[in-house]
Amino acid sequence: MAGDYEIVDHSYDVVVVGAGGAGLRATFGMAEKGLTTACLTKVFPTRSHTVAAQGGISAALGNMGDDDWRWHAYDTIKGSDWLGDQDAIEYMCREAIPAIIELEHYGVPFSRTEEGKIYQRPFGGMTTHFGEGRAQRTCAAADRTGHAILHTLYQQSLKHQAEFYIEFFALDLIMEDGVCRGVIALELATGRIHRFRAHVTVLATGGYGRAYFSCTSAHTCTGDGGGMVLRAGLPLQDMEFTQFHPTGVYGAGCLITEGVRGEGGYLTNSDGERFMERYAPNAKDLASRDVVSRSMTIEIREGRGVGPKQDHIHLHLEHLGPEVIHERLPGIAETARIFAGVDVAKEPIPVLPTVHYNMGGVPTNYRTEVVAPRDGDPDAVVPGLMAIGEAGCISVHGANRLGSNSLLDLVVFGRAAAIRAAEIVAEQGEHRPLRADSADPALERLDRLRNANGSEPTARIRDRMQATMQEYAAVFRTTETLQEGTKRIHEIFDSFADVHVSDRSLIWNTDLVETLELENLLGNAVTSMESALNRTESRGAHAHEDYPDRDDDKWMKHTVSWMDEKGQVRLDYRPVHMTTLTDEMEVIPPKQRVY
Ligand SMILES: Cc1cc2nc3c(=O)[nH]c(=O)nc-3n(C[C@H](O)[C@H](O)[C@H](O)COP(=O)(O)OP(=O)(O)OC[C@H]3O[C@@H](n4cnc5c(N)ncnc54)[C@H](O)[C@@H]3O)c2cc1C
Repeated sequence: MAGDYEIVDHSYDVVVVGAGGAGLRATFGMAEKGLTTACLTKVFPTRSHTVAAQGGISAALGNMGDDDWRWHAYDTIKGSDWLGDQDAIEYMCREAIPAIIELEHYGVPFSRTEEGKIYQRPFGGMTTHFGEGRAQRTCAAADRTGHAILHTLYQQSLKHQAEFYIEFFALDLIMEDGVCRGVIALELATGRIHRFRAHVTVLATGGYGRAYFSCTSAHTCTGDGGGMVLRAGLPLQDMEFTQFHPTGVYGAGCLITEGVRGEGGYLTNSDGERFMERYAPNAKDLASRDVVSRSMTIEIREGRGVGPKQDHIHLHLEHLGPEVIHERLPGIAETARIFAGVDVAKEPIPVLPTVHYNMGGVPTNYRTEVVAPRDGDPDAVVPGLMAIGEAGCISVHGANRLGSNSLLDLVVFGRAAAIRAAEIVAEQGEHRPLRADSADPALERLDRLRNANGSEPTARIRDRMQATMQEYAAVFRTTETLQEGTKRIHEIFDSFADVHVSDRSLIWNTDLVETLELENLLGNAVTSMESALNRTESRGAHAHEDYPDRDDDKWMKHTVSWMDEKGQVRLDYRPVHMTTLTDEMEVIPPKQRVY
């Protein structure tokens, strides 16, 4: 097989796949510790989706009122609807404070208070005193926080001399006897194949929002890490939990940050009513995202949507005044003007819940090592493999992520990956040679797709997948819609065997890349739909109308899903970690959520 393709070999201590916030934080952390580190990315690092993050990054700094990382942990556990692993949540919320100070010292230009401290805004679900007051916990660089963080992290990576392989598309993991030994990648500009051998491979490939028709994430968010993991015979976790952000621009799908509501913005229906006061009397417009998205959907369903088709909702920030808008939300004003034709100082923005974040992903422990249930051990580690960022499922977000906890997750666990990798690499000797056929499965797949001569263009299969996910794995689900969705998504998966790729070249073959991405998306989509059908309760973002209540006795557990090459899914479970790492925090037992 290899004979047809030129293979270039590399050996590193660590190879990181992905150069978003998670990948970059891990990469320079590894390089800083003296590990030889390669970072490969299919887009230029600063074009990763992290660059689009607007609202901010959470940490209990207490710059604008009382705060405590334990309150942050409580909110995160409650937000997760008790599906988050409490050991990992403790780690994240405690480490958040030094992580932000570190970012500040690296050069992130945070917005400031009058006294020069890092400015912090309120965000949904963030409280003080275990749910009593409203916290101001989200640090922001105006409404371009991700942009500021990503550029700073890239600069740090260059400073620490990590080696970048830019516009390299990772195809598949190299697995030998259950151990990950590296990754095979396609160099997009030349068509050469690169085989990276590494003691540790880190997946930081981001989410799979593009499995849906309307999402806030970039076109590159195609769940490639999940696809690689499934093909390696490893499972994904909690794929039924997809977050809909309440305020995507109607029609365009692009995001209007929750920071708008944090700064005082609010939603209204066709009666001009601030309806969130009815659904969440305490938190109102700043209830967690699953709650606001569901409330908006009910308003529209019951005929109180706005616009000629009564199919969306209004978001107001006219009352905030030009100064606040100019200083704290300049990007939003621009987005609203371009994508909705609206002057936010004068009129409301038309918005609709839009797919925003994938809570599910590659299961890991809090040290970011990938785990897969084996021989009765739900937490068995897969040697040589780590996953971080939106590609991973640590799980700190459980069934529903709180706004501003993802950017935090990236930097805290990017750093944790570097710490753990240094320990692992120290225990390793010289690299063993790879098997001679280690690249064959990846190359056979590449070759098959490059020459695919079926009758279905990639774009047509993708359109059908996106429409099916949007309609059948929506904000509200029922057994009937999920059964129909499962049937359809399997038919679409099967139709991929008949895919047609028209460009056979190896130089910048975007047709081929989109097809590789589609195959990855399909694995994510199938496991999402099947996991959703299987979970007969409502929890966090999974709102099952036939089972409206959370059922802790039966369902306080993670779903793990394997998929074979025919698209057949096998499900199992892992217990939620109801333990802490230290005695500085107590386990938070499950309670009903009150808003
Ligand atoms: C519009 C928007 C706004 C958001 N705002 C906030 C916010 O204010 N606060 C917050 O906490 N969270 C926010 N989020 C969520 C958060 O930004 C994301 O979850 C996070 O940035 C994901 O980072 P990541 O490093 O995991 O992946 P990404 O930033 O998506 O990066 C993925 C990387 O993987 C690489 N890659 C993928 N596949 C391959 C492959 N096959 N081969 C090689 N490389 C590959 C890509 O090139 C890229 O470098 C927002 C998300 C969106 C979409």
